[in-house]
Amino acid sequence: MNASVNTDKVNLLDFDREGLKAFFVEMGDKPFRATQLLKWIYQEGVDDFDQMTNLSKALRTYLKEHCCIKAPEIIVEQKASDGTRKWAVQMGCGNRVETVFIPESNRGTLCVSSQVGCALACTFCSTAQQGFNRNLNVSEIIGQLYAAQRRLGAEQKITNVVMMGMGEPLLNFDNVVAAMNLMMDDFCYGLSKRRVTISTSGVVPAMNRLHEVCDVSMAVSLHAASDKLRDELVPINQKYPLQQLMQACRDYAKAGPRRHITFEYVMLAGINDSAQDAKDLIRLLSHVPSKVNLIPFNPFPQSIYQCSDEQTILQFRDRLHNAGIVTTIRKTRGEDIDAACGQLVGQVDDKSRRHLKLQQMALKKAG
Ligand code: SAH
Repeated sequence: MNASVNTDKVNLLDFDREGLKAFFVEMGDKPFRATQLLKWIYQEGVDDFDQMTNLSKALRTYLKEHCCIKAPEIIVEQKASDGTRKWAVQMGCGNRVETVFIPESNRGTLCVSSQVGCALACTFCSTAQQGFNRNLNVSEIIGQLYAAQRRLGAEQKITNVVMMGMGEPLLNFDNVVAAMNLMMDDFCYGLSKRRVTISTSGVVPAMNRLHEVCDVSMAVSLHAASDKLRDELVPINQKYPLQQLMQACRDYAKAGPRRHITFEYVMLAGINDSAQDAKDLIRLLSHVPSKVNLIPFNPFPQSIYQCSDEQTILQFRDRLHNAGIVTTIRKTRGEDIDAACGQLVGQVDDKSRRHLKLQQMALKKAG
């Protein structure tokens, strides 16, 4: 695990319980300090070591000198008419990611980012157009939850987390796993594994590793039922084609009781929304315990696609439904503040120079 050193102090938000235990053992103390610390930080919301009264004076002094508890800062807040809130969170060096809170009557879902930008180039996603800067460290991932819950206060609780913000979480494996462990740790946020969802575009080797180390719900951004189309929409498919992806999904589902995979499918007019596309999808999913979530495409500046019309989306849903596949249509939230799926952009100092490549391509196309 990579501890962030934004001061010369060790940030304790960079450790999950195992990491904290190792930290205390290394400094000659007892592993159970990890539990005490987690409770203070995440359950009591205390970030001043002097207030941690069950720690010895000597330990408190040591922690004060060498450690800190530092979450990234929320610098802009936008509130949508439906109550959705979007925060720009400062990650240093001109980089910001976005975190979204979606309140519903029976739950509050936080959509968390895992990277500054994204290294993948899905053609329908606005984060992709931003290019990539770096992986977030553990404190920056769990820190989005920490900062959000503090901002929301006691009356609005975060009950669910979806790793569906900016970035591909499985390309930041260790840090994302440690942060998800903290989300589910009883001494931290104590969320059940059904309430923590990781979403991936299909990084097959990492999907295979994941079920060995961490038990969370899995969503796969499928979007196409043939390699030909998926190669285009989700280019990582060229590396891990559908056959491999589906095998990884079956294995993930098999690794736990009553597990299914949620397949996300963005509805793009005239691209992936025909009767034949539905047929192909039904066939593809026939051997995987699955649920499908249809996402109406959310446009962004310069996007080349349009959302399928409502009638087409309903028909597509009914086709899947009639084949016995549980299918929902994702309600678009936070539309008036660009907080919906695929609209998170933050501010990315693009090291991949993707935005330049895209500009050149656009210029070439324009003649
Ligand atoms: N990289 C991960 C996590 C991002 S999750 C993944 O691909 O799963 C964001 C979800 O929103 C993904 O399912 C993504 O495919 C979808 N999405 C991206 N752009 C979108 C857009 N413009 N409209 C609707 N959904 C979009």
